[in-house]
Amino acid sequence: MAARCWTKCLSRSAASLGLKTARALAALRVGGRMQARVEKWRKKCNEGRLTASERAEYEAYIQASTLIGILQAKARRILSQSCLMDARLRQLVRRRANNCCEYCALRQEQEPLPFHIEHVTPRQHGGKDSAENLALACHHCNLHKGTNLSGLDPKTEKLTRLFHPRLDDWTSISQIAAARLSVCPRLAERL
Ligand SMILES: [Zn+2]
Repeated sequence: MAARCWTKCLSRSAASLGLKTARALAALRVGGRMQARVEKWRKKCNEGRLTASERAEYEAYIQASTLIGILQAKARRILSQSCLMDARLRQLVRRRANNCCEYCALRQEQEPLPFHIEHVTPRQHGGKDSAENLALACHHCNLHKGTNLSGLDPKTEKLTRLFHPRLDDWTSISQIAAARLSVCPRLAERL
């Protein structure tokens, strides 16, 4: 009954758990020493030999583990939903890119290595896992771009923003120089 009550109370707050917190919660385990202690209390409880202070500690442990168990169930649910969302997002990015590298236009079927879903603005620069910030990239373009947002144009030696698949258009000649910096050498040869 108490567990059902806690489940209801925690439902709303647990829904706002971030993925990082959800992962940490799901991975939470009681240490070996604590487990041994609990086992000792459990045995003594069954034999009716618990002292008053041990009983208080044992009951506090049971209450805390009930709460943690409820939170862990919520966290695992959030994580499984996020995996489903990730799969849908990946599918969307592939479909939107027509299964071509968004930097060099290479088709997936022309390349033995699977294409990457990459962050246009890398996570380390604050890039989000949103469809707007994700792009399909072949292995070569992905490795070449790395976590860079800009690079030195070899011709002008000016710092130039890299090609951005959501903002830039391949048909615009002015973008090609910028694109050269972010694409694979094979494309640079084609330009
Ligand atoms: Zn490419």
